[in-house]
Amino acid sequence: DKLREERIKYLTDEKRIKAVTVAFTDLEGRLHMLDYDKKFLLKSSDNLTFDGSSIRGFSAQAESDLRLSLDWASFYWLPADIFGPGKVLMFSEVLERDGTPYHSDMRGLLKRITDQMYAKDGTVFHAAPEIEGFLFKGRDAERHYHETEHFEFISTGGYYHSLPGDKLRAFIDKAAEAQRAMGFQNEKDHPEVAPSQFEMNFSYSEALIAADQIQLYKLLCRQVAAEMDLTASFLPKPMTGINGNGMHMNMSLSKGGKNLFYDKGGQDGLSQMGWDFLDRILNNANDICLVLNSSVNAYRRLDPHFEAPNQIKASPNNRGAMVRIPFGNERSARIECRSVAPDSNPYMVLFTLLKTGLEGPQPQEDAETKRSRTRFLPDNIFDAIRLFKGSQFIAQTLGENVQGKFAELKQASAERCPKQLGTRVKAAEIQFH
Ligand code: GLU
Ligand code: MG
Ligand code: MG
Repeated sequence: DKLREERIKYLTDEKRIKAVTVAFTDLEGRLHMLDYDKKFLLKSSDNLTFDGSSIRGFSAQAESDLRLSLDWASFYWLPADIFGPGKVLMFSEVLERDGTPYHSDMRGLLKRITDQMYAKDGTVFHAAPEIEGFLFKGRDAERHYHETEHFEFISTGGYYHSLPGDKLRAFIDKAAEAQRAMGFQNEKDHPEVAPSQFEMNFSYSEALIAADQIQLYKLLCRQVAAEMDLTASFLPKPMTGINGNGMHMNMSLSKGGKNLFYDKGGQDGLSQMGWDFLDRILNNANDICLVLNSSVNAYRRLDPHFEAPNQIKASPNNRGAMVRIPFGNERSARIECRSVAPDSNPYMVLFTLLKTGLEGPQPQEDAETKRSRTRFLPDNIFDAIRLFKGSQFIAQTLGENVQGKFAELKQASAERCPKQLGTRVKAAEIQFH
């Protein structure tokens, strides 16, 4: 198509570009990148293959060769001072040899459903993540955790505290600059509640772009931290006794520029459609919990004492509630799902939340009764796996293949940890990215 031709011309003419980083995400949310020499890529962009069997959670030995299909709409210059000179990054879809979509490629799934929705009647799904992270001393602190068994803060600063000489501030400034260079619309960047914790907010966008930005954000934070001999960690709960890292997901639907979640006269300023979307998420919270909180460590985080919600309910201000309804206007009315961990697969999270919000089964019981009763999310991954595996809705939504495989991968990682975790974070809880 036209965009593809334009980008090919740009790549060809732009002498500063030497290589193209082609990125995709495995089922467990890890970002993988292959660097193609520009000339080679331009010659063979229609036939990029890779060995899927070496990617955990991708294909088995027998079906190992997979293909990559570039998404020409996603195109990012990588800031040279952090990633080295002359590189751009593009996301790609993962395909089978015969060109059909590969079932474990959640980006492709999210792209297809949002494209279809737009084609049908112009509906757009918007998302804005609030990703929290910690900055720890030393490079690769997560990898060394099995020796050190502790993380060391780099700053003692608390909420919104920022001194120019502070390492955390220096890191935030550098990461924000890298974000801007990559086209993020930064809004506010600040130290978070816990010592050495940070959060950087950027503007909402179409869900697919938001998910890509989550992957890029974590990548650039890790990279900036490594350059400073530090570690940016997105583990949901790296230290017990203080706040963990959330990835609150703000969501809304719009059509023709009109926010479908807004109704001035609706309860909490939310339209009927917004309330239905929200209720469906709450009604199916147990089924989808593993998607939103997919690591052993994520279940340590879900504790309302540390502003992380485990209650299956909605509230305008209770931070122990799974869904918050932020005060909004015509432009900003939205719902905020707080029970999402930053080490989940963002494509799978957004796909699942969208499908659930639109099609999740609704019991007959009236919404008011449901809302007033307190129910809780699973407090450990074993229960979450069981609920996910047993869910008819998940089988229909993600497909039996993905349901089985995801459960299997999660079971394997859970079994590496003792069932009763105790107070100390165990090295086996740490899922590397
Ligand atoms: N850190 C909290 C969490 O784990 C959230 C704090 C906040 O409301 O920003 O979700
Ligand atoms: Mg926060
Ligand atoms: Mg929030």
